[in-house]
Amino acid sequence: CGIVALIGSREAAPQLLEGLRQLEYRGYDSAGIATVDGAGLHCLKAEGKLVNLTARFEERGAPGQCGIGHTRWATHGKPEERNAHPHLDGSGQLAVVQNGIIENHRSLREELQAEGVEFRSDTDTEVIPHLIARRLRQRQAEGAKASPALLLEALQQVLPLLHGAYALAVVWAAVPGAVVVARRQAPLLIGLGEGEFLCASDTPALAGFTRTILPLEDGEVALLTPLGIELYDGQGARVQRNPTLLVGTE
Ligand code: GLU
Repeated sequence: CGIVALIGSREAAPQLLEGLRQLEYRGYDSAGIATVDGAGLHCLKAEGKLVNLTARFEERGAPGQCGIGHTRWATHGKPEERNAHPHLDGSGQLAVVQNGIIENHRSLREELQAEGVEFRSDTDTEVIPHLIARRLRQRQAEGAKASPALLLEALQQVLPLLHGAYALAVVWAAVPGAVVVARRQAPLLIGLGEGEFLCASDTPALAGFTRTILPLEDGEVALLTPLGIELYDGQGARVQRNPTLLVGTE
């Protein structure tokens, strides 16, 4: 239901939680965040209100200057903690949050299960981290090195397999300085801050952060690093578009 993603040079978790708070008005049944740092991926989830997630964060922490967050409005799978986003791949190194519905999730799940993948949730979303991880494993077996570009390529390869409407964000522990995002028939905007980027599914999450925004257009994919934004269309061609000013948020 609500997505946030942050990449920059300060601790991501507090800003992710603040962004999710700004999206609470849309309604949700559970919430979660995943951050990455040099030590790996840190994922926290909680059923119910954001205060539960915040309490978990205060207890356990979620270090890293890069991360993703989600408030979930269940469509597939009960509103339980195990179905809360982010969803991880089998190694626990890759995390995905998603808004929308993956209509062909059942056949994708069966295909992955036949290959030995174990699912931990009942959501349509969980096929996505497993599909991206499968692609990353293939490319790494061919000798490709972990890099933001490899993560971007893996996502671009997986998107055509997904039917339905979605906005999503992905982080990978192997590249702590990158977030990749994509949208199709669901909104996603990038807010440009000072040496940091905050991506969100709706403007209230960006309002207190920046007024300079770059809304993604349908089918677009973006790689965010502290150095900048690389934007691509659905065919993988690089897109250049200037940010605009968020209006009506004085
Ligand atoms: N279909 C996904 C789920 O049920 C995402 C729902 C949402 O947009 O929050 O987990």
